[in-house]
Amino acid sequence: MSGSFIPYGRQSIDEDDIAAVVAVLRSDWLTTGPEVEAFEADFAAATGSLEAVAVANGTAALHAAMFALGIGPGDEVIVPAITFVATANSVLYQGGTPVFCDVEPDTLLIDVASAESRITEHTKAIVAVDYAGQPCDYDALRALCSRRGLALVADACHALGGAYKGKPVGSLADLSTFSFHPVKNMTTGEGGMVTTDDPALAARMRTFRNHGITTDFRERARCGTWEYAMTELGYNYRLSDIHCALGRSQLRKLPAWIDRRRAIAAHYDAAFAETNGVSPLAVRPDRRHAYHLYVVRLTGENHPPRTTVFDQLRAAGIGVNVHYLPVHRHPFYGALFENTGRCPIADDTYERILSLPMFQGLEDVDEGCVVRAIGAVVTGGGL
Ligand SMILES: *Cc1c(COP(=O)(O)O)cnc(C)c1O
Repeated sequence: MSGSFIPYGRQSIDEDDIAAVVAVLRSDWLTTGPEVEAFEADFAAATGSLEAVAVANGTAALHAAMFALGIGPGDEVIVPAITFVATANSVLYQGGTPVFCDVEPDTLLIDVASAESRITEHTKAIVAVDYAGQPCDYDALRALCSRRGLALVADACHALGGAYKGKPVGSLADLSTFSFHPVKNMTTGEGGMVTTDDPALAARMRTFRNHGITTDFRERARCGTWEYAMTELGYNYRLSDIHCALGRSQLRKLPAWIDRRRAIAAHYDAAFAETNGVSPLAVRPDRRHAYHLYVVRLTGENHPPRTTVFDQLRAAGIGVNVHYLPVHRHPFYGALFENTGRCPIADDTYERILSLPMFQGLEDVDEGCVVRAIGAVVTGGGL
């Protein structure tokens, strides 16, 4: 073993990223300048969508999506139980009610039948989370949403660079949200994006990210006016030119990084096919998995408890993690939603999952360390 700690995720920053940021620092615009529009245009092209709206982070992207859809008090939005808390929080920010549904046992993606069972006369939207980087079943979700008159949002924060039946993530739902936090598939430090093919939704989100004001500073400078109108209650959710320049530089390298993530996953898959007691999540044949996370389940009766496996791997310098405690089991949500429907698959699977190190810069030798350590710990031999 190399002796150092192997994290579960890590950014890659090269000299060209640094040069792109420095160029903005030397320019006239530090925020809401030409890099924002250029990043949005590059991102829309990369995801096969008509519009991309840059925002401060992935949580702001989800909030902007809920705002654009007009979610408000009395509205219900169906959210899978296994996701990052921000997915559900964004519904609450708008005064709506998140309703948790269950996930498929072998992929941990939203269970479309469970989502359907939670629809009421108050339901306005479904948020599908492309867990670990695998796109959900968007044909089934779109059919359900159009039959029941619901909006479909993709929380694609894990899945940038993935595809469903050959169509890129970002073009699969009415609105798709992304995060550029350093552990995600590409980074701007903090940052987020929403993609859509609907120019009206995009316009609402551009206003929303700038306090609810209909023009931005640069547009007013261009027109030579000081006047502006605030027409809605928005937020300061802007993303700066500094961030966007980094984003453009990172986006150019994304395809090669996804290839590398997929190659690491293929090595892990092959190794764990031979290891008793662990099994990777299933991957559907019609999906291109973007592998933000590589998640295994502890299987069978004879493996040590998950906490033991976790502690021994951490002690061995392997940065395993757990994604995620089902949202309804966080203290805040537990108190709010005592009586919501149960999610038995999410509750059961949560006890058995582990995320292994997965990032484009992971070296082959470290990959080998992870595989050997898992084998030793899970079969009970220890390290
Ligand atoms: C990272 C993430 C978010 C939030 O993104 P931030 O940029 O950290 O605000 C939302 N949903 C999912 C599924 C995520 O992984």
